[in-house]
This record gives sequence, structure tokens and C-alpha cells, in this order.
Amino acid sequence: MYNAKAYSVASSTSPFARTTIARRDPTGHDVQIEILFCGICHSDLHVARNEWSVAMPAVYPCVPGHEIVGRVTKVGSGVTRFKPGDLVGVGCMVDSDRTCPECQAGLEQFCPNTTLTYNSPDKHLGGVTYGGYSESVVVDEHFVLRVPPSLDPAGAAPLLCAGITTYSPMRHWGVTKGKKVGVVGLGGLGHMGVKFAHALGAHVVAFTRSPAKKEAALRLGADEAVVSRNPDEMKRHAGSFDFILDTVAADHDVGAYIQLLCRDGNITLVGAPAKPLAVPAFGLLLGRRSLSGSPIGGIRETQEMLDFCGAHHITADVEVIPIQKVDEAYERLLRSDVRYRFSIDMASLRL
Ligand code: NAP
Ligand code: ZN
Repeated sequence: MYNAKAYSVASSTSPFARTTIARRDPTGHDVQIEILFCGICHSDLHVARNEWSVAMPAVYPCVPGHEIVGRVTKVGSGVTRFKPGDLVGVGCMVDSDRTCPECQAGLEQFCPNTTLTYNSPDKHLGGVTYGGYSESVVVDEHFVLRVPPSLDPAGAAPLLCAGITTYSPMRHWGVTKGKKVGVVGLGGLGHMGVKFAHALGAHVVAFTRSPAKKEAALRLGADEAVVSRNPDEMKRHAGSFDFILDTVAADHDVGAYIQLLCRDGNITLVGAPAKPLAVPAFGLLLGRRSLSGSPIGGIRETQEMLDFCGAHHITADVEVIPIQKVDEAYERLLRSDVRYRFSIDMASLRL
């Protein structure tokens, strides 16, 4: 075991504070990673403030962070795929049972025994796992991803959650050339959704509450941008979408988007508001439309997404911050005042 610097919250209402956490020494298939950047996902805020107390109660102290990019510093004797110096990433999972049908299919995100990167029982050290708001982490090589060296590491970090969470449902629902695709909410996930839908060749419409983000949506790759608070703009798209990705983090009218789907169209929720959403039955049944959800993505698909980003030069648009500004960043995230992801420069933790 060794000590690593980190930032944690002591309760749902506490500010972040500097702390020291234990990490295991890398043995067997373990990879030790010096963390360079960690993105701030809205899920970090949901968990740190215990907003998901029913589905996923927070255990304190809590060290969030599951959008990790770093350099390998040491590997266990059984590691074959990584060596010191490699640029790597870690997303939302650090382990699973590897034996269930989901794991066998490369869909570790559905394994009943998955270990999340933070706030999950830690099999090695007891207590719970601690995430990427830290200077280093030790992860089994199966859950370590290769980051194409051509990508900027600060902008690549959010790919490990925001990237795979938007890429996976688009692949599953067949987003491709000739499809009309909507992306609701232009935050961390939403802006990646726009980039992927564009790169996959679809006609992309971004939905935002903010007229100020309209121009930006077009620059990100949207063909059109709609201010969702404007009913006339919304009506113009009625019954026309093959697929809509909903990334909204708070309560909102999902029925307004169901109306925009064509026959057999699908809307997939990736946003995870704490309270249940109201779903209008007629909106679904009249067009045989469907509503589904999607959590992150498996390890194989996460690597596919990173390689796709390498080939298409895709990274997140990030505002790089020192870790000392994480509380301020959370407040700004709540106001949707980030273009489009905060990425923590972990050098600030080593000062
Ligand atoms: P984010 O950066 O805060 O973006 C959310 C966006 O939703 C905002 O930028 C805003 O877009 C829109 N929005 C916020 N409040 C709204 C409201 N009251 N009504 C309508 N729109 C609103 O958050 P994120 O990191 O992208 O995460 C989004 C959600 O996905 C969170 O709930 C997060 O926990 C969840 N998530 C799920 C998964 C998964 O596996 N499914 C993975 C990661 C995150 P505009 O300003 O453009 O309107
Ligand atoms: Zn996340």
C-alpha cells in the first residue's frame, strides 16, 4: 500500500478538501497510473451531494472522478498489454466478475458484480473505491484503455465517460448517414453526442435551452440548433427524428421530445435526473415509438470509441482547471455554465 494525494468531500454538504488515500501496490495484472487529467462529470456532483441516495447512496469520504487519463508508472508481473510511459485511460468501471454472460459478451457495464471507479466496495483494501480526483490510481489491466497519443490528454479525459456514454447508444440504435438525430442538452455529454452523431454521418439537431449556445452547437457539428423553450421551433420538427439522445441532468418534459420522433423512432435517456420523469403514454403508442436508457459502455466498445476519436481527431471541448477550483466548477455545472467539460489538471494537486 502507498499514500496518494486526493480531493474528497466528507458529507453531501461539505466542500472539497485535500486528503490522503491508500492505493494498493501494483501486483499481478495491476497497472499503476499517474493521473494527468480527470474530467468532471455531472454524475460526480450527483454522487458527491448524495442526489442518487436511493439508487446509489454515497459513502463518505467520497473521492469522485471517472474520466481519467494518465501515464503508466508501474505494472504487475502478469501485465502484458501496458508498459511504463503508455498514455492510458480509466472510465467508470475498475472491475467486474469476468464470468457472467454480460462480461463474456464484453458488456461489463451490465455485470451484476461490477466495481465502479468510485463509491463501490473495494475488494482489495476494504471500504469503497476512490476515483480520479487523485494523483494516482491502480487498476486491473482489463479495465485500462489505450488513449491514442495523438489526442490532447486534457480533452481526451472526458471521452472515458461522456464519450462512451454517448457513442454506445448511437452505435446500438444505428446512427448513420441518412438518419435524423437529435441531442438534447448541450453539456458534457450533449456536446460529445453532437460530435459523434456528426462524425457518424447523421443529420444532427441540437436542442438547448440557451439561445447563446445555438451558434456553438453548429460549430460542434450540428446541422441545426433548436431553442427548446420556443414551441414554434420545436413544432417544426414534429414526427421527424429517427433517434434522440436525451442528456438532461434535471427534471424536464421528455414528452416534448417523444412527439418529435418518427414512427418507430427511439429516444434514449443517458441523463440521470434524481426524480422519475413523467412519460405520456399516447406519445409512445401512437407512433410505436420507444423510450430507453443506456449506461456507459463495455470495455471493448470504449476502446473502439477511443480509436474512432483518434482516427477522427475527436476530443471534448474542455476548460482546464486546477483542483482547488472544483467547488466553483460544481456550482458552474449546476448553472450549465461550462463549455463543455471541466478537466482537472492534476499537476495542481502535486503542488
Ligand atoms: P452537464 O454538463 O451538466 O449537462 C447537462 C445539460 O442538460 C446542460 O448543459 C443543459 O443543457 C441541460 N439541462 C440542465 N438542466 C436542465 C433542465 N432543468 N431542463 C432542461 N435541460 C437542462 O451534465 P453531463 O455531465 O453532461 O451529464 C448529464 C446527465 O447524464 C447527468 O444526469 C449525469 O449524471 C448523466 N450521466 C449518465 C451516464 C450514463 O451512463 N447514462 C454517464 C454520465 C453521465 P442546455 O444548457 O444546452 O440546455
Ligand atoms: Zn460520468
